[in-house]
Amino acid sequence: MMTIAENIQAITGTLPEGIRLVAVSKTRPVRDILEAYHAGQRIFGENKAREMAEKFPLLPADTEWHFVGHLQTNKVRMIAPFVAMIQSVDSLRLLKVINKEALACDRVIRCLLEFYIAEEETKFGLSEEEAVELLESPEYRQMKNIRICGVMGMATFTDETTVVRSEFRRLKTIFEKMKATFFKDDPEFREVSMGMSSDYLVAAEEGSTMVRIGSSLFGERISRKG
Ligand SMILES: *Cc1c(COP(=O)(O)O)cnc(C)c1O
Repeated sequence: MMTIAENIQAITGTLPEGIRLVAVSKTRPVRDILEAYHAGQRIFGENKAREMAEKFPLLPADTEWHFVGHLQTNKVRMIAPFVAMIQSVDSLRLLKVINKEALACDRVIRCLLEFYIAEEETKFGLSEEEAVELLESPEYRQMKNIRICGVMGMATFTDETTVVRSEFRRLKTIFEKMKATFFKDDPEFREVSMGMSSDYLVAAEEGSTMVRIGSSLFGERISRKG
């Protein structure tokens, strides 16, 4: 059995330079997160606001917390004071609440727009049309306490690499389009968050800038796929 530190070494060793690792620590005890922290990992992903808020004070201050799950508007307040990035913005309504709560804490919260790229119907995320509508809305243009830094997406959970690859390619294309249309002169709009334990090497090949890995890191096995 490999330790968490060894898993981090193994994963970062296979990642091309410039791709950041988000260690998805949902459901994992603080002890495990600290082990990863002491192995040099700084970015952690959680998908429940309460769980993230409970773990936050137990980790060193330079830990970067990324929210990666579906976020209910009434939970934003719990994480607004400290969250480094909300990767899963899937509506204008949510973005408005994030902006409001960020203003209340005198912060600017970095966000990614989550896109629906998978075949599965259960996945959250915006369509391209919805994203355009959001970015063209007068409300968005007035928001001063959020910054959109890129896109995020989850591929279909399948062994068929061609399906996964084409979905990642689509997300990358969406990113390029959004960049050209809305963020041409904004160097901060640069993140493509895609790739999980089973498909991160494919995501890396398709232009991911951030992979979100949980089970391969905190569990016992390392995915050798790809
Ligand atoms: C759980 C989760 C991950 C990590 O998944 P693993 O398969 O455990 O690597 C990545 N992204 C999101 C949004 C998740 O909820």
